[in-house]
Amino acid sequence: MSDQAKSDFFNGLQQNLDQLREQGLYKPERVLSSRQGAEVVGQDGRKLINMCANNYLGLSGQEWVAQASIAATEKYGYGLSSVRFICGTQTVHKQLEQAISKFLGTEDTILYAAAFDANGGVFEPLFDENDAIISDALNHASIIDGIRLCKAARFRYAHNDMADLEAQLQAAAGKRHKLIVTDGVFSMDGTIAQLDKICDLADKYGALVMIDECHASGFMGATGRGTHEHHNVMGRIDIITGTLGKALGGAMGGFTSARKEVIDMLRQKSRPYLFSNTLAPSIAGASLAVLERLSASTELRDRLHENTAYFRKEIERIGFTIKPGTHPVVPVMLFDAPVAQKFAARMYELGVLLSGFFYPVVPMGQARVRVQLSAAHTREQLDTVLKAFEQAGRELGLLPTQAQ
Ligand SMILES: *Cc1c(COP(=O)(O)O)cnc(C)c1O
Repeated sequence: MSDQAKSDFFNGLQQNLDQLREQGLYKPERVLSSRQGAEVVGQDGRKLINMCANNYLGLSGQEWVAQASIAATEKYGYGLSSVRFICGTQTVHKQLEQAISKFLGTEDTILYAAAFDANGGVFEPLFDENDAIISDALNHASIIDGIRLCKAARFRYAHNDMADLEAQLQAAAGKRHKLIVTDGVFSMDGTIAQLDKICDLADKYGALVMIDECHASGFMGATGRGTHEHHNVMGRIDIITGTLGKALGGAMGGFTSARKEVIDMLRQKSRPYLFSNTLAPSIAGASLAVLERLSASTELRDRLHENTAYFRKEIERIGFTIKPGTHPVVPVMLFDAPVAQKFAARMYELGVLLSGFFYPVVPMGQARVRVQLSAAHTREQLDTVLKAFEQAGRELGLLPTQAQ
């Protein structure tokens, strides 16, 4: 490239970045100087109560999880320098795959470096131009990308709309295999997919069902198995993808879990598996310890749901509007984008870390701050957060100025 061509390229990037900033869409990174947890320390040394991590079970910063990862590193070393099929599979990887299958009630499981890779590599090996994939309109970006990499016909149904799902199943009638795919839980609203109805429609139209359990594995359902347990459809879901990077420990890593034929084929053909390095043994070992703990006791899951119920009840009592539901994702609706931004900034000053969302991330007029509960939050911390909500709400004129 000539010098001029190069500088055109870099200047163009800078202009686009400036534009993102002007539109309020530029995403700065928050730098923490502590472990992840209910309380974190910012770069400036300030302590903040963290209400925006996917740390649902509070395991990310837990000492026993860190120790399990250190023990696995001691035994299996730092890494494999190999993909799985050459010389990158250790006993700990096989044990973790078995443990995930047992936990989810499936036959077999394949590990990936991330759930993004699990979703990126699940469609193309299993479906081709003879088939149809029917996808919820608000599915995660990784599902959308994975479907793009596959030759199957694409059908999209309006978010969580069972009548439209049925219409799309009818539209896909001529296709050989049909797959319905949905997030088990949608992270923006905490909406739980209607898997009972989806499975009934799948049965009626001879379709397979796939769910992405990133915001469900470990805590949804009576024993935390996921949305399929919550909706009492364990055994009726054909493919489950999920992450090790949220409730199940929070490091990184993902998986696909399904019938053994499906997993066998993915091991042969799934590109993010074949052409990317093995999950670090430290993560595999710690994830195994986490699954053992979660299989032995529902204590963390129960505490999370108690915290969620308490926060949902109290935030409404104070006078805020939330999206109704039961999931630990609690969207506190502020409707107006600048208000949501100001609110999140004021909460930060008051020692509470949470994130504001506004158009185009959520629909116009639906601006909000999103709270995510954790089993690690103490009642005292939640009360501090609720007080801060009340104060910021009064100051910004969202609540009556004095309610005593
Ligand atoms: C977070 C998330 C992913 C990606 O998970 P990673 O393991 O971080 O790649 C995929 N799908 C959904 C629904 C998610 O929320």
